Amino acid sequence: MLIKNITVIGSGTMGNGIAHVFAQYGYAVTLNDIKQEFLDRGLKTISGNLDRQIKKGALTEDQKKSTLANIKPSLVLSDAVKSADVVIEAATENPQVKFDVFRTVDANAPAHAILASNTSSISITEIAAVTKRPRQVIGMHFMNPVPVMKLIEVIRGLATSNETYAAIKELAGKIEKVPVEVNDYPGFISNRILLPMLNEAMYCAMEGVATPEAIDTVMKLGMNHPMGPLTLADFIGLDVCLSIMNVLHEGLGDSKYRPCPLLKKMVAAGHLGRKSGKGFYEYPQLK
Ligand code: NAD
Repeated sequence: MLIKNITVIGSGTMGNGIAHVFAQYGYAVTLNDIKQEFLDRGLKTISGNLDRQIKKGALTEDQKKSTLANIKPSLVLSDAVKSADVVIEAATENPQVKFDVFRTVDANAPAHAILASNTSSISITEIAAVTKRPRQVIGMHFMNPVPVMKLIEVIRGLATSNETYAAIKELAGKIEKVPVEVNDYPGFISNRILLPMLNEAMYCAMEGVATPEAIDTVMKLGMNHPMGPLTLADFIGLDVCLSIMNVLHEGLGDSKYRPCPLLKKMVAAGHLGRKSGKGFYEYPQLK
């Protein structure tokens, strides 16, 4: 399948990173969001990240210009997908938002278009079921920050066809990412393995096994992790951690996925990690 036109829905943390990478590799990208200020912010982030690549010697000024020229902002979803070969949805993690977006996209995108979602926790099978082309719906779970991280978990819904999977696998290779095939189960692979580890670190903190600093030091120096689990949880956002633990707990029905009571208490208190200025650590400069 010849893929030239990519539409990215949502210009937040993930969407602007996805648009950046495809535009850098020469694809015609349409970037959609619901407000002009969100599109402006996304484009500003892309420009800043391209400058960082230039500083590192990984990109030229001309390449920056052509990358930005490959991105067309759009506020109207039905127009944004009109000539898309692949649509990648990276809108807010809310099932109703995703279902509405996929209904509109399905009604307006060309019949051959593949519809992908970057969701971290919503079932690809359920998203596909709101469209009339479930065979052409798939998950492309990029990692943050998208321009840096190599992995894409490619999630096959129950109805995803082999042709759709093959086209997305090839597309991932074109932007020098590594696709890994995963079936649609709660948390896929990344979050199913990572989040229970972070949750267990929170139990250790709650039970007073050690201080957060000590827990992080053990995992950094003892397991060679680049970041301790509690630092990472603060970085991801404790509200996001809690919602993923809830998805695992409800979706898999096993008590081993119960969210740590300390995590629940911190989220209830508004201690969400870096973004709120306080989590397992304090971030006074970010408050
Ligand atoms: P974000 O809040 O930074 O950005 C979401 C964007 O979607 C916002 O700009 C919002 O205005 C826009 N949006 C909301 N409703 C929309 C609609 N109807 N049409 C078009 N745009 C709409 O969120 P994010 O962190 O970029 O997450 C986006 C998706 O990526 C989520 O599904 C999330 O689970 C997934 N994800 C996030 C990460 C991460 O580390 N942040 C990693 C992997 C996957």
